[in-house]
Amino acid sequence: SEDTAHQNLAIIGHVDHGKSTLVGRLLFETGSVPEHVIEQHREEAEEKGKGGFEFAYVMDNLAEERERGVTIDIAHQEFDTEEYNFTIVDCPGHRDFVKNMITGASQADNAVLVVAADDGVQPQTQEHVFLARTLGIDELIVAVNKMDLVDYEESRYKETVQEVTELLKQVQFNTDDASFIPSSAFEGDNINELSDNMPWYDGPTVLESLNNLPEPEPPTDAPLRLPIQDVYTISGIGTVPVGRIETGEMFPGDDVTFQPSDVGGEVKTVEMHHEEVDRAGPGDNVGFNVRGVGKDDIRRGDVCGPADDPPSVAETFQAQIVVMQHPSVITAGYTPVFHAHTAQVACTVESIDQKIDPSSGEVAEENPDFIQSGDAAVVTIRPQKPLSIEPSGEIPELGSFAIRDMGQTIAAGKVLSVDERE
Ligand code: GDP
Repeated sequence: SEDTAHQNLAIIGHVDHGKSTLVGRLLFETGSVPEHVIEQHREEAEEKGKGGFEFAYVMDNLAEERERGVTIDIAHQEFDTEEYNFTIVDCPGHRDFVKNMITGASQADNAVLVVAADDGVQPQTQEHVFLARTLGIDELIVAVNKMDLVDYEESRYKETVQEVTELLKQVQFNTDDASFIPSSAFEGDNINELSDNMPWYDGPTVLESLNNLPEPEPPTDAPLRLPIQDVYTISGIGTVPVGRIETGEMFPGDDVTFQPSDVGGEVKTVEMHHEEVDRAGPGDNVGFNVRGVGKDDIRRGDVCGPADDPPSVAETFQAQIVVMQHPSVITAGYTPVFHAHTAQVACTVESIDQKIDPSSGEVAEENPDFIQSGDAAVVTIRPQKPLSIEPSGEIPELGSFAIRDMGQTIAAGKVLSVDERE
């Protein structure tokens, strides 16, 4: 609703541990499934003499998509709690999840990690927790799911909590920022109401935890950062760059610059949804027009910002990365493509400065010869073409990236510091 704050929520976890079932359950319990659709299924279910129609509806739709071989589309679903309007952002498993998450197309504020009690921590559990940590997820709600399959036993719950806690420590996720809930998404235990099946657990439920999340701070205080997605020429107006405002605000009359193209001028008009507006802010997709800037002066990958607080352009930058999958080893000299906001630029790993021990967060090795899958490291990167990027400590929305090579995401990382071009 309009007076509640917004949260982007990622649902992460190993395949088949119950992510889509949980989303279906959340939609159902919060009344986010339209009444007329429920009514239709109520009638159908009654005709067939079946009970429990309600939840079945949501799951039938998901099952249908699964049969069609479509990745189950739980992304972009919305539901409300008292405090928040939640949007499920692209989930791992979705083809573009990693890329979208990193380019900011669907930056999640917080995440629910689903771990099946009968299966425990699995490879994708690890991978997603790594990513969540690297990309700066604030809080993690851990649903220890499928408790019905382990007879709702507290001992199994505790074992799973222990396993996940170890994993969180390994990736240096602050375990104070994680909460654990024994649940069954399928049966509806501890989702909206405390379950009689687990009298040993006294709360909170998954929905209560979601409702109790801290409020994300809208990045309006940060300077304007607007990565350019496309540049159009529109008759009667001229050159119209379009993109999504990541941080800050834009007003007609602002003096702006595009980096690294290094051109700029005064903003004449700003449009949203084909209408002229006198202000646009974080999350807004805008098209705008800047006096004196032509179509060939700027391009996708440029970042628009205030002339007196311009986007940084890196000569080199230092970053912390997590290597997710690489067939061999990464050494200095490696030059894959970096995807940061809307930019794609070949960058060279100039030096591998430190290997980080994932279990302690301490430096495991200074200047290692190589790193490989599963390693975390601090590296120095030299873009082969000018790239605008920011320290994630200052502007997190412009401070993370994915490294891709051979059609795969090799690593994800965040920028620690930028050595700016003169
Ligand atoms: P995802 O791949 O993580 O999205 O997993 P799904 O939500 O598709 O669930 C995978 C399978 O586990 C499906 O057959 C679900 O019906 C089943 N499932 C999900 N949650 C539960 C649960 O809490 N209990 C039981 N018994 N089965 C579940």
